[in-house]
Amino acid sequence: MKKEERISRYDLVIIGAGAAGLAAATYASRHQKGLSILVLEKEKLPGRKLSAAGNGKCNLTNTAFGADCYHSHNSRWVTKWAASHSYTEILRFFEESGILLYEKNGYVYPVSNQGKQVTGLLFEECREGGVRFLFQARVTSIEPPGKEKHGRYHISADTPGGETLSFLSENVIICTGGRAAPALGGCVYGYGLAEQLGLKIQPCYPVLAPIYVDDARLGIAKGTRVDAAVSLRLQNRDVIRETGQVQFNTDCLSGIVIMNLSSYVERKLYCGKDSLSLDVLPEITWDRLRAILDSRQESFPSMTVMDAMNGLLPVSLNAYILDRVKLPGETKLIQLTEKHKNRLTSAIKKLVFTPVENGQYDKAQATGGGIVLEEINEKTSEAHRHPGLYVCGEVLDVDGKCGGYNLTFALLTGIQAASNIISR
Ligand SMILES: Cc1cc2nc3c(=O)[nH]c(=O)nc-3n(C[C@H](O)[C@H](O)[C@H](O)COP(=O)(O)OP(=O)(O)OC[C@H]3O[C@@H](n4cnc5c(N)ncnc54)[C@H](O)[C@@H]3O)c2cc1C
Repeated sequence: MKKEERISRYDLVIIGAGAAGLAAATYASRHQKGLSILVLEKEKLPGRKLSAAGNGKCNLTNTAFGADCYHSHNSRWVTKWAASHSYTEILRFFEESGILLYEKNGYVYPVSNQGKQVTGLLFEECREGGVRFLFQARVTSIEPPGKEKHGRYHISADTPGGETLSFLSENVIICTGGRAAPALGGCVYGYGLAEQLGLKIQPCYPVLAPIYVDDARLGIAKGTRVDAAVSLRLQNRDVIRETGQVQFNTDCLSGIVIMNLSSYVERKLYCGKDSLSLDVLPEITWDRLRAILDSRQESFPSMTVMDAMNGLLPVSLNAYILDRVKLPGETKLIQLTEKHKNRLTSAIKKLVFTPVENGQYDKAQATGGGIVLEEINEKTSEAHRHPGLYVCGEVLDVDGKCGGYNLTFALLTGIQAASNIISR
């Protein structure tokens, strides 16, 4: 009895001071004065991923926002959720925080181009609004309300000093993020808390990550960046095709287009098969490229094939392609047979790779899988079987493409949870 009296009570406890947690705390404190709100964060600082987002420039949202920008095992939920939201809610939310935004090709950033400032301003607004923050407090358990808990959730958190803190709250928001980027706070804790409450979890995998490929020679092209048409293929058919800049690394390919496709690759359908194909000269047709090789051969018979290719693509990529087709770079054009020229043209227009399963979260920007959406009301973020318990952001089974969609999801689900709590 004595012990329970020392437990602090709140109207709302938010677990995680990331994008979703800060949005929820800001919205709730802005729109309902006097609400007692506590944010528990295991790191020393709030919003580490928000601050680092978009290479520090913080791509907050996108004018192309819609259900088709997201992946989930429950696309119906995402469709319904996206239909009742717009990216303009994000614009309004930040405008009210005094954070000016600008748009470039649909991508929306803060005018300061600094994610750190966005985090800092939301944090300050929360503190001005009376929100209490406890850092280095890792939540270890959430017990649903029972008679002895006065109808409130009981939340326990550990501190680095080995202390266990306890809180009672009518409402709890779990917004603990996903497993991506552990160096920025990515972790598994949220899934454990959800499991304690009986919520189901869809197995997780890293997304928006490089695609690792089975090719020991790839390092020859290391550092090359090239605009390419990239397809994921199954049974000789392009299933997905996107164009953008691809970077070659020692054991993987990266770049926005690759990161977007990584979500499909990690779903394992494409791993271990020759399923990733790059056209590294997409603006030139196969026939035209073949004709260019013919004409170079005719005009410059003693030119090396490497020199001829240097007019088309970066040097290191040419070296890699020639290695793949087993043609020494010093071969004179006059020595090329029809078969050589066909093989070279095909290698440039259809550079095929076998993606390998990687499963590492350190270079990923988001997490696929997570708490299943069937558990959550798409209009309020509230768990169906736990009134007063909300789940928001990346810990849910939703991942967005590159372009501001993951922050949009975290911010909007956080805002809708806060809006539901204050409207009760
Ligand atoms: C390098 C990088 C760049 C990115 N760039 C962009 C971008 O430009 N645009 C975009 O839309 N998305 C971007 N993303 C993705 C985006 O940042 C995340 O999807 C988003 O931050 C998720 O928000 P969240 O609130 O759900 O989780 P997070 O922002 O990860 O916040 C979760 C918080 O919960 C805390 N926490 C976890 N467990 C506990 C616990 N048990 N107790 C207490 N605290 C806990 C964590 O420490 C963390 O602070 C990027 C991600 C990375 C890694």
